[in-house]
Amino acid sequence: MLIDKERQENIDMIKKSIKALCEEFPESYWREKDDNKAYPEEFIEKLTEEGWLSVLIPEEYGGSGLGTLEAGIILEEINRSGGNAGAGHAQMYTMGALLRHGNEEQKQRFLPKIATGELRLQAFGVTEPTAGSDTTNIDTVAVREGDKYIVNGQKIWISRSQQSDLMLLLARTTPKKDVKKKTDGLSIFLLDLNDQKDNVDIRPIDTMINHSTTEVFIENAEIPVENLIGEEGKGFKYILSGMNAERMLIASESIGDGKYFIDKAVQYANERVVFNRPIGQNQGVQFPLATSFMEIEAAELMRDKAAMLFDEGGKGGQEANMSKYLASEAAWNAANAAMDAYGGYGLAKEYGVERKFREARLYKVAPITNNLILSFVSQHILGLPRSF
Ligand SMILES: Cc1cc2nc3c(=O)[nH]c(=O)nc-3n(C[C@H](O)[C@H](O)[C@H](O)COP(=O)(O)OP(=O)(O)OC[C@H]3O[C@@H](n4cnc5c(N)ncnc54)[C@H](O)[C@@H]3O)c2cc1C
Repeated sequence: MLIDKERQENIDMIKKSIKALCEEFPESYWREKDDNKAYPEEFIEKLTEEGWLSVLIPEEYGGSGLGTLEAGIILEEINRSGGNAGAGHAQMYTMGALLRHGNEEQKQRFLPKIATGELRLQAFGVTEPTAGSDTTNIDTVAVREGDKYIVNGQKIWISRSQQSDLMLLLARTTPKKDVKKKTDGLSIFLLDLNDQKDNVDIRPIDTMINHSTTEVFIENAEIPVENLIGEEGKGFKYILSGMNAERMLIASESIGDGKYFIDKAVQYANERVVFNRPIGQNQGVQFPLATSFMEIEAAELMRDKAAMLFDEGGKGGQEANMSKYLASEAAWNAANAAMDAYGGYGLAKEYGVERKFREARLYKVAPITNNLILSFVSQHILGLPRSF
């Protein structure tokens, strides 16, 4: 599957624009945010202002109606520059559930404001402490009372809840014991975090990366029925289609990370002289970089295939999963190859590699762990017996 000429030209233009924007936010900017565990407000504002976070929203709702491939290229280029697209990626794709499964009134009500950034939909509330990767086992419940749902439960690792006006929330609306399939009886909602701030307690989690992630305690929060997305009980199916898009976009960030590591390490290996020759002349330094480069190129092809299939009509679930796995593993290998090439200097904050090393590690774990992808491939593609 090859990208056609016109689309490629547009992609090249996007890359150029994002590169220019990112030059205004050099590595020192990201280091300072990381040191202070601060949210990169200025960067996100600039991305929003220039319309880059609304590219997946159709033009009729105020976005630019581009594809997942183009959205991925934006995130890739941010990470390649040394930035961290994770701070804004959810504003791009969380609205996908609303776009694909919401009704017209909901789309008119929310999408134009999400497109301008007036409404921040940066929080995606799925994970819970007890259920972990076993999403259908969540305990958060939403019980209908007249024209609203009353929600109780606890979420963990919900990123950017403090930088969001709305949270896309997954909750159980029919108890597990009363459904035929465990994937039934789950629903998705738009929870208004400003309106419900007395019922939603958000507590930041201190992590090894600057990711604005939080624990969320929900006690008798109210959600009007008009904020239920799609049909009650079908939420699991809806979030899966969104998750496929998310996986390709996360793969794109990993590809950007991988390219960052290779760019930096190659430059360093050409310049650093030890034993009277550049360290890059040693095959022990060259080969891990060459291997990583090939792995990143291969992951990029899988990402392109996944994104094009998705853009053609919501297909490409298998490829989306595989691209997330391949890209996050390739980025992690590149992170280690860069660390090795930098020797002791890799550990010095000033060079940027150690921050990106920490950041690149996340995507082996989130939004889905690579073990779960291996399990998906084993069962659904290879036809091996189900293991859980
Ligand atoms: C910084 C950060 C940001 C996040 N942001 C969000 C967010 O915005 N919204 C959200 O909903 N979630 C978010 N997450 C949660 C993330 O999606 C989960 O951490 C991830 O899905 C894994 O769940 P868990 O941590 O409970 O691990 P567990 O499910 O407890 O798994 C632990 C380990 O066991 C392995 N394991 C478990 N079961 C099996 C099995 N059957 N076979 C093989 N291996 C298995 C896993 O692969 C993993 O290696 C975030 C996480 C982090 C760290």
